Amino acid sequence: MQIITHPEELRELCYQWWREDVNTGLVPTMGYFHAGHESLIKYARANSEKVITTLFVNPAQFAPHEDLATYPRDLDRDAAIAESHGTDILYAPEADTMYDADHATWVEVPELAKHMCGASRPIFFRGICTVVTKLFMLTMPKMAVFGEKDWQQLAIIKRMVRDLRMPVNVVGCPLIREEDGLAMSSRNVYLSLEERAQAPGVYKGLLAGRAAVEAGETNVDAVKATIRETWAANVPLANEDYMEIIHPESLERLDEITGPAHIAVALLLGKTRLIDNVALNHNGS
Ligand code: AMP
Repeated sequence: MQIITHPEELRELCYQWWREDVNTGLVPTMGYFHAGHESLIKYARANSEKVITTLFVNPAQFAPHEDLATYPRDLDRDAAIAESHGTDILYAPEADTMYDADHATWVEVPELAKHMCGASRPIFFRGICTVVTKLFMLTMPKMAVFGEKDWQQLAIIKRMVRDLRMPVNVVGCPLIREEDGLAMSSRNVYLSLEERAQAPGVYKGLLAGRAAVEAGETNVDAVKATIRETWAANVPLANEDYMEIIHPESLERLDEITGPAHIAVALLLGKTRLIDNVALNHNGS
């Protein structure tokens, strides 16, 4: 595995592959790898000739009060993990090589970014779309792999790629959980022992909501009430940031669950923001 830190070097190598029609797979990440990231790298390894894993804590998606400075980092450990799963290139640039001081160009999908995570993090998806576009331009991958853990992010990137006719196949891989159900996240290391003990309650709530729908409930408010009851009993330390029941692709809010639907949530457990989501299987859909 080759570690590259400079964009020009990455571009030179990737454009050579592109000219040779090599089937390249890109895995964009912010590092501090866990089994969720590993599953994406494994998918790329199994489905492409060359795997490019990127590790960049993207300043453009962090608001000033957020955790850019304290975001967990461990390049040596991540490099060993990336290599063990067959990454060919690990791209780990410095921020100033990705953004000029007078950077002024942004890629946005406001229609899909206006609610859920975008409501409490207004510049978040603009930062993500912009950096993902930059990574696509630098690497020209045939395929790019993202996790369903970040459901809204995946939907937005798919729409961006479709709208801008980017020649990249965007693949979503399943959300990977701890054994107790907590969605894996690099930020889980922020949780105190007490918070960590309660954190699986987030998923318990979503499962209770899904069970209600499978039992025939179609009313969104009723499903949300069931989820909130489960949270109150299992994760009392948490404060809800949002809970939305949405169409899985358009992300539009639903009132009644009569077809494809998805629950997406964010909760604050202490200072840690946990997100999670599950698909709903309505009987009639
Ligand atoms: P991050 O480093 O958190 O920005 O995540 C990089 C990629 O890994 C994104 O596509 C995420 O959706 C994905 N990812 C993060 N956590 C998980 C997880 N628990 N299961 C599956 N994919 C994940």
